[in-house]
Amino acid sequence: VWDNCLQIIQDNISGHSFKTWFAPIKPLKLAGNVLTIQVPSNFFYEWLEEHYIDLIKKVIKKELGKDGRLEYSIIMDKNSEDKPYTVNIPTNNQKAVKNPDMSMPVDMGSATIKNPFVIPGLRKINVESNLNPNYSFDSFVEGDCNRLARSAGFAVANKPGGTAFNPLLVYGGSGLGKTHLVNAIGLEIKNQNPELTVLYVTSDRFASQFVDAVKSNTINDFSHFYQMIDVLIMDDVQFFAGKEKTQDVFFHIFNHLHQTGKQVIMTSDKPPVEMQGMEQRLLSRFKWGLSADLQAPGLDTRISILKKKMYADGIELPSEVVEYLAYSITTNVRELEGALISLIAQSSLNKKAITLDLAKQMIDKFVKNTAREVSIDYIQKVVCDYFDMPIELLKSKTRKREVVQARQIAMFFSKKMTKSSLATIGMHCGGKDHATVLHACRTVNNLSETDKQFRKYLEDLDKKLTLA
Ligand code: ADP
Ligand code: MG
Repeated sequence: VWDNCLQIIQDNISGHSFKTWFAPIKPLKLAGNVLTIQVPSNFFYEWLEEHYIDLIKKVIKKELGKDGRLEYSIIMDKNSEDKPYTVNIPTNNQKAVKNPDMSMPVDMGSATIKNPFVIPGLRKINVESNLNPNYSFDSFVEGDCNRLARSAGFAVANKPGGTAFNPLLVYGGSGLGKTHLVNAIGLEIKNQNPELTVLYVTSDRFASQFVDAVKSNTINDFSHFYQMIDVLIMDDVQFFAGKEKTQDVFFHIFNHLHQTGKQVIMTSDKPPVEMQGMEQRLLSRFKWGLSADLQAPGLDTRISILKKKMYADGIELPSEVVEYLAYSITTNVRELEGALISLIAQSSLNKKAITLDLAKQMIDKFVKNTAREVSIDYIQKVVCDYFDMPIELLKSKTRKREVVQARQIAMFFSKKMTKSSLATIGMHCGGKDHATVLHACRTVNNLSETDKQFRKYLEDLDKKLTLA
């Protein structure tokens, strides 16, 4: 009977699927109109139920009549009886200890799967998502640097598997928020659909689980485990470079998930075109969906990130300190946060309030080796703060005397401290042309020689703008 069933099934699905899902099944017994088949694992059972149930029902009906029934027997563990299945992949590198009582322990790296004795209907496997609850959309500051990636991520979070962004690949340099963003997507999906199985895993964790699976001859369980995930978040796929076997297994898992409408989210430190040591067929899959990059955040975004972080941690700092920090560390959010933390640690150790001077001492040690350039934006901000004037005014076309003066000073420092052209500076200061900027620089020079008060302004501002 089962052979007849297989015949029909084989005609209805792809050869590959047939080999994977039906060939390993053993018919056990036929009692009346009840056929019992043995499947190798619980994943297997769930997979069949989830994906082939209609087909299976049809063939059973055809072969055994309309009262025909199918029962599964799962290669089992006698000890765990009716406990719910748990699949727990810890984030740390601890290996799961093999339980000596289990007759069929399945050890995939640190994932331990216990197959229960009986299967009363379909139950959901619990997979620990490994998501970091702090890396949410709420705590992710939006800026020009991340707008596309963030909104694509948000779309995916609202409709996992149901957007054109599958896979979604987020790429960008170290410390720019890739892990944070993909985590946020995972959290939001879990939030909206608690029943979906979301899994965050780093690529090196995946690779080492795979190596363990090869060693212990459990590659099937490894693959089946990943194939039943609804939303797979694979962090730092550049780690797969040069690892052909790992790429192969990921390729198959990827295809399976993609074909079944599951969402795949990946991060990488480079765009697909620049990834070396990656199989072409895998790279071409990456391009199916959307690749969105994260750029280094601009000054305003850096300030917002610091403020958000301080707010979350209940810390207060003088705004000049925050601005100084944001201004000094430009290329890496992780370092920016690191500097904030060490600043706070220092101050509580020394029981000193965090002043701008203390901050400067600290930060300069921190960023000793990174070149920094003052930006026009920062100069404008410092100048406007100094004169207590909204920055919009400085950027406007107004000809009011105080505004003109502040604007000229900002132009003067921009010329002196940045590599920007006169035209660029003019553009940032209310759309003036280069001649106006040049004129401003001359005026400031002249005034500083004749006007004592004006000279004082310049000296104060110079101090604020110059480091060390
Ligand atoms: P990556 O994975 O790209 O190396 P992470 O996601 O680990 O970077 O981010 C490094 C740190 O910077 C994390 O603590 C993260 O919360 C923080 N961070 C990065 N971007 C942002 C942002 N836009 N808003 C808030 N925090 C951010
Ligand atoms: Mg990361």
